[in-house]
Amino acid sequence: MAWSCFSCTASIPPQPRVNFRPSSQKCLQDVRNMVTSLGIHSIRSSPVDSLRNGNWVKLICGASFEDVVDIRNLSLVYTLAGVDCIDCAADESVVNAVNQGIKAARDIVEVGRPWVMISVNDDEDLHFRKAEFDPADCPQDCSRPCEIVCPANAISLEEEKSSAGHLWNNNEEGKKQGGVLTERCYGCGRCIPVCPYDKIRVHTYVRDAAATSELLRREEIDALEIHTSGRQTLHFRSLWEGLGDTIHHLRLVAVSFPDVGDSTISTMNAMYSIMEPRLRCFNLWQLDGRPMSGDIGRGATRESVAFAVRLAAASDRPRGFLQLAGGTNAHTVAGLKKHGLFQTKSVSEENFKDGQSMVGSLGPLDAPIGGIAYGGYARKVVGRILSAMQSQHGLTCIEESPDYLFKALAEALALVGTVKCYDVPS
Ligand code: SF4
Ligand code: SF4
Repeated sequence: MAWSCFSCTASIPPQPRVNFRPSSQKCLQDVRNMVTSLGIHSIRSSPVDSLRNGNWVKLICGASFEDVVDIRNLSLVYTLAGVDCIDCAADESVVNAVNQGIKAARDIVEVGRPWVMISVNDDEDLHFRKAEFDPADCPQDCSRPCEIVCPANAISLEEEKSSAGHLWNNNEEGKKQGGVLTERCYGCGRCIPVCPYDKIRVHTYVRDAAATSELLRREEIDALEIHTSGRQTLHFRSLWEGLGDTIHHLRLVAVSFPDVGDSTISTMNAMYSIMEPRLRCFNLWQLDGRPMSGDIGRGATRESVAFAVRLAAASDRPRGFLQLAGGTNAHTVAGLKKHGLFQTKSVSEENFKDGQSMVGSLGPLDAPIGGIAYGGYARKVVGRILSAMQSQHGLTCIEESPDYLFKALAEALALVGTVKCYDVPS
């Protein structure tokens, strides 16, 4: 397809048709050349092969992040970079944005289609909450530390409605516009402790099982992730049963949970026994080391790696691939390498129940760690380019600004390449 024929159809305000400059055409060709020269379309394995080889990469858009413009562009960029899966909120417009980003990427150059995963929770969970406050209650002399600390640019105290056309969550007549931009807030909670006046509240929510089932009937969703506290199985069972037979066409079911110490393995086994009778696909355990912290710095990845080291060595854990998340960033692969867990296959036979390769199980030749999911860090490195693009051009599809797409792809490749072992030029 000629690149000038692309149309952006996510739930995004209509974009004016762009008259591409010759320099833009060259940039888009540079994008194609970069992807082609790295051989991403040819060396990229299927998502299952990636899990087995230990080079699975998942982009986490955020279980509560619902800015469809950014999600569509992030999906496009990371599809070109060769991720295996894109994890997003269980919301129809968000799923549409992910699929449209994937399609737009594959219209630019022939790359594999990543799986689309939706995330739900079985009970209250950090990933499923939104901050809120009334800016009219904020003292005039507040230095607004909430605005500075927010990693999602989800807080702004402008007088006017956002030029981007977003609706603020408080818009009563006579009051200042501003506050938390709900679709961008992903519940990290960093704004709460920095408010000197204790003005910020948190609204938590649980995704409805019936609505999730309805969404799962769509063909373009490949995987489901259940976030759970790891401390109980009552709500987990209730959600699993509530999903009914809609789970049967899935390719992967993931369970995301934090390290809860000595009871972690027994809870995993209890959850697996609940799932097993109706589990007809692969399963994965997402080890949420230090939730939503990968963008903070190098140290954030330590807990995630330590969690992985402990579970990889556990002979009594249930079947399923292991994948890191929570604190993952550009330093995570180095952490795994330090412990001999990066794409190694020398795992004790004790780690397998019977040494047999079965659907949904880890086989004796599979890597003990299937891969890594990147959330806040992945969004940060590409997000600053999306912000610059939006400042210059307003809301737009990133392929309509190929120079920005080229820069964003370079950032994404540098991160994904640490796992996929691309030889990315510096
Ligand atoms: S919870 Fe996190 S993402 Fe949401 S507004 Fe506060 S700092 Fe921003
Ligand atoms: S830090 Fe607290 S008081 Fe200050 S602007 Fe933010 S929410 Fe309002």
